[in-house]
Amino acid sequence: MPIARVALPVRAQSAFDYWIPEGLAVGPGSMVRVKLGPRRLVGVVTDLASETDVAPEKLQPIQDIVSGAPLAGDVLDLGAFVAAYYQEPIGLALALAVPPTAGERKLRTQAPDANRLTDEGHLALPGRLARAPSALNCAQLAAVQAIAAADAGFAVFLLHGVTGSGKTDVYLATADAVFARGQQVLMLAPEINLTPQLLDRVREARPDLRIATLHSGLGDSERRAQWEAAASGAAQLVLGTRLAVFTALPALGLVIVDEEHDLSYKQQDNVRYHARDAAVWRARRRNVPVVLGSATPSLESWLHAREGRYRRLDLPQRADPRAAMPRVSFAANRSARSSDGVGATLRAAIAARLSRGEQSLIFVNRRGYAPSLVCAACGWEAQCPRCSVRLTTHRVPPSLRCHHCGHGERLARACPECGNVDLTPLGYGTQRLERCLADAFPQARIARVDRDSTRAKNAFASVRERMNANELDILIGTQMLAKGHDFPRLTLVGVLGADNALYSADFRATERLAALLMQVTGRAGRAQLPGEVIVQTDFPAHPVYTALAAHDYARFADLLLAERKDAQLPPFAHVALLAAEAHDRSDVDAFLGAAHAAAAALVASAHPAVIVFSPVPALLQRRAGLERGQMVVQSARRVALQRFLPEWRAALDSLPGRRARWGLDVDPAGFG
Ligand SMILES: [Zn+2]
Ligand SMILES: [Zn+2]
Repeated sequence: MPIARVALPVRAQSAFDYWIPEGLAVGPGSMVRVKLGPRRLVGVVTDLASETDVAPEKLQPIQDIVSGAPLAGDVLDLGAFVAAYYQEPIGLALALAVPPTAGERKLRTQAPDANRLTDEGHLALPGRLARAPSALNCAQLAAVQAIAAADAGFAVFLLHGVTGSGKTDVYLATADAVFARGQQVLMLAPEINLTPQLLDRVREARPDLRIATLHSGLGDSERRAQWEAAASGAAQLVLGTRLAVFTALPALGLVIVDEEHDLSYKQQDNVRYHARDAAVWRARRRNVPVVLGSATPSLESWLHAREGRYRRLDLPQRADPRAAMPRVSFAANRSARSSDGVGATLRAAIAARLSRGEQSLIFVNRRGYAPSLVCAACGWEAQCPRCSVRLTTHRVPPSLRCHHCGHGERLARACPECGNVDLTPLGYGTQRLERCLADAFPQARIARVDRDSTRAKNAFASVRERMNANELDILIGTQMLAKGHDFPRLTLVGVLGADNALYSADFRATERLAALLMQVTGRAGRAQLPGEVIVQTDFPAHPVYTALAAHDYARFADLLLAERKDAQLPPFAHVALLAAEAHDRSDVDAFLGAAHAAAAALVASAHPAVIVFSPVPALLQRRAGLERGQMVVQSARRVALQRFLPEWRAALDSLPGRRARWGLDVDPAGFG
């Protein structure tokens, strides 16, 4: 009897066997509907076989085939790689490649409509030539030529360009040659729905390009239509967030990963893969070049380039010759007791912009009014009842909220411990800055951008429009504002509260801070008006700030790499993090203790190159009512860790009497 091995989207490590009814053309990559217990699921056929261990009376048939072409071989291989490398179930990894399936209830009433694409301008008629590319400067041209010289075979290029250096022009000029050969380009970007600029720029520069976009903001039928445009070869450019790395692309000729350092490429739950690394893997599998672009490359990519595995291409200048890099200066923080945080230097700089009709952006990476509420009389602090963190004071609407679990409660009017009615909000967030700047500059038109203010659809887009129409003077916001927004009249960027990251226990905190600051700094003075950046800090001599002032990421990256090497941290160590949580701390401790013992036994018997660290509480010890703990295993050699992990995972799966929920994270974004 013909048997199909079907990978199903469930937490099982291997595929399930089904028999193939006569007349059903099933092969590897086929997407099929099957029953698993009472559930009907869509799975992917990984293999065909003639025998199975499943008892004949238990063996079930495949019900039917999902319409459309089967998944291509390289997509199946990518799924298998992700499953093996990240220690994830094959069915969940392959589910990432399956488009929302036609025939599900939602789609019966709302069939995908290819014409809609044309109406919206995603897909234009083929045949017309793209507009001549804008003139490239020397560095851009050299980059394009270097990539072209790879002669369409696999090679990784790290395109390191300062903000505003025209990386997108390099992507497009490189892609033009690929389109001319009739091939497709896959372009990944972090959070497209937050940064529509990239898509707008591409559309403007290449109005006739047939583009498919894939991101989480699309409905199912739209996503399927876009997926089919990519899979049929109709789309020349596929632009999407991390999930797009699994798109079927029959004529793939080039892979581009924009903002390659961005941590949103690492999925934090379900299947914990890194889309940048998956993109590099896929480019190698398809033997095509891959371009990783960033103003602040990840230390992983930086090390690869330094050791010659990746080829580094530099764009050291802004593309617009009129736009110099902004001047960066530092001002002391206000005392912790002060209510708002905006010091005299920054205040004067804002006033100067207002008098000249220019715009200011004030960046603080904290939403809400104040990060805590304390009683000065007895020392009480508002704490989340479910997490080991303080509650944030909000004024719009008035409340205390936990930014980790979503817990909310009424703003306390008096101290619950001593009855003192004079409670003090300590520190400042976006809401407090908004209020204090409104008091200081009553004539200014001010807007705030954070997760609270942009909950309504299009709220963010409307702020952008008002900035561009010069209807705003001061923009206050969180890191949502850091990425790729170019406002021609924005000449001042003020940064508050950045020092917090220097105290962080997360080993990636300074790398992240540098990336964020360079991005934010890049917002100032993008056109002919010169830009200025003022950072409020108590540590202006810290390397992260001196690098910022000198616009010298390279020196900073080398310095950080030296630190990481001394500490044997990534990218010099390859790490897997085992995280566990449970209602009782004792269950967490028991599970991690057993996991540690299993790891130590494996290392002693067969894996001497692996180091096992003792379990510790997570940085956030309690979240949403659950106690949390973790442990790390690492090796200086990736292959040694990769040999160890499947054995350890099997041992974890068979630990008896588990009461803790756990997850294994290979190449974690941070420790906890
Ligand atoms: Zn009190
Ligand atoms: Zn909480």
